[in-house]
Amino acid sequence: MEYEDCYLQAQRPKYDCLLFDLDDTLYPLSSGLAAACGQNIKDYMVEQLGIEKSKITELGNLLYKNYGTTMAGLRAIGYDFDYDEYHSYVHGRLPYGNLKPDPVLRSLLLSLPIRKVTPIVCKPSEIAIERALEIANLNPQRTLFFEDSVRNIQAGKRVGLDTVLVGTSQRVKGADYALESIHNLREAAPELWESEIKTEVGYPGKVPRETPVTA
Ligand SMILES: [Mg+2]
Repeated sequence: MEYEDCYLQAQRPKYDCLLFDLDDTLYPLSSGLAAACGQNIKDYMVEQLGIEKSKITELGNLLYKNYGTTMAGLRAIGYDFDYDEYHSYVHGRLPYGNLKPDPVLRSLLLSLPIRKVTPIVCKPSEIAIERALEIANLNPQRTLFFEDSVRNIQAGKRVGLDTVLVGTSQRVKGADYALESIHNLREAAPELWESEIKTEVGYPGKVPRETPVTA
């Protein structure tokens, strides 16, 4: 039995879970969703909050940088609005029709013998990332985080995640891996699929699970 425990320990895959960002990571930059979201936020600030148009870009950048999201920043500096109304205005009108099925990505992800979790949280707050880990009951040391934003990668690293920067092959501080495209995942990290063999050998009853989480 002791030998068996040691054997299973040695065969344990490095990651239990992969944690993916959506915009510009799983959803391609070419879908235009992130750009449309940015424009909707600007329109909301002008049309719903009455902020002067000439001040929008600078204020938006400042709030995003200091409060993690423009929405959090607007609330923090005193604008009173309903969160649901904001989300409906900013996200409810996005051109989701631009998102086309990506059979290559789908089969790539489904072929991974690892649980996948896609939380919706307000990064780069470390609390938000910790909350996502808590919801999905994840050990950060055994979770691989995919993200296109350098600041979110660095926030992920601070809470102990291993990180993959998506959208460039240049690694930055805080990124353990860098991928030009999420489609390159198998070439860049073939070890993620190694547990497939180990599953057959060490965990005959264990099957990969897919768990969507919304926070
Ligand atoms: Mg993103």
